[in-house]
Amino acid sequence: MIPAAFEYHAPTSVDEAIALLQRYDGEAKILAGGHSLLPMLKLRLLQPAALVDLGRIPNLRYIRRDDGQFTIGALTSHAEVEASAALAQAARVLVEAEGLVADVQVRNRGTLCGSLAHADPAGDPPAVAYALDCEFQVQGAGGARVVPVDEWFVDTLQSALEPDEVLTAVRFPVPPPRTGSAYRKFEQPASHYALVGVAALVTLDEAGTVARCRVGITGVGPVAYRAQGVEEALVGRRPEAAALAEAAERAVEGVDVLGDLHASVPYRSHLARVYTRRALAAAVARALGQPDPGE
Ligand SMILES: Cc1cc2nc3c(=O)[nH]c(=O)nc-3n(C[C@H](O)[C@H](O)[C@H](O)COP(=O)(O)OP(=O)(O)OC[C@H]3O[C@@H](n4cnc5c(N)ncnc54)[C@H](O)[C@@H]3O)c2cc1C
Repeated sequence: MIPAAFEYHAPTSVDEAIALLQRYDGEAKILAGGHSLLPMLKLRLLQPAALVDLGRIPNLRYIRRDDGQFTIGALTSHAEVEASAALAQAARVLVEAEGLVADVQVRNRGTLCGSLAHADPAGDPPAVAYALDCEFQVQGAGGARVVPVDEWFVDTLQSALEPDEVLTAVRFPVPPPRTGSAYRKFEQPASHYALVGVAALVTLDEAGTVARCRVGITGVGPVAYRAQGVEEALVGRRPEAAALAEAAERAVEGVDVLGDLHASVPYRSHLARVYTRRALAAAVARALGQPDPGE
């Protein structure tokens, strides 16, 4: 399919991009890697009057670690995140998930922030954003603001971004010592999108008890979500197999689970529990400095 006609703009600053978005008054779309946007244009699910390409804006492609946090710029590709040694060491869940996004072509062009802005209910990065407690740096005509992950994913393909705002970066705190994290995914074999994707982060205290736990799940409901029931069930307990399995039972609590030709509601719910248990077990093993458990 061929997209409907649109104007094309390549601003060289974020301010210029925002001015263009304002000029089109909600009828323009930002273009980053294009790997979610272009398919939607070609299918004519979207027919924007204009595209505002971020690609020529300098200084949006970076991974920084300072002041106890990582910050990743808007144009940083999935492949660049996947290849970061600093992230692999401190935030394995992100690197692991990015390595499972689609295929190498998509990962080379597609961006982490583009995925988070797109808010695809089956995208991998949204689950990780919950596990890492991400914050979103947004810039618009009214100035800059920071949105916490719990307010970011509003609905299917809808983030907290206003039409004239740019997501300039995503950031998260460097996880403390005795933390392990992991991403486990059951994918649709053609597209690689998650039928179920679970991102888990577990921090143990000195006695080996779970001090903190974060679990993000994608592919299961109309929007990625934080599995708070799982987290609550695990905090304060020793991370033994039975405790992990018990906590994982709460993976779809309160969620409107999707059923489609790839997975019925009971099957997807079952997968969510199994993959939650596996992600938790891998995160705990990593927190303890042990090899990944067999699955
Ligand atoms: C064949 C195929 C398979 C795929 N499989 C997977 C998969 O397994 N897992 C997965 O997670 N994803 C998958 N994807 C999606 C891919 O990861 C995309 O790269 C990603 O979702 C969007 O990033 P992008 O940079 O390409 O964004 P774009 O397509 O350029 O933009 C997507 C949306 O976000 C908006 N946007 C982008 N950047 C910003 C910004 N900085 N500020 C404000 N708005 C912004 C755009 O306006 C648009 O609405 C797949 C894509 C394809 C084509």
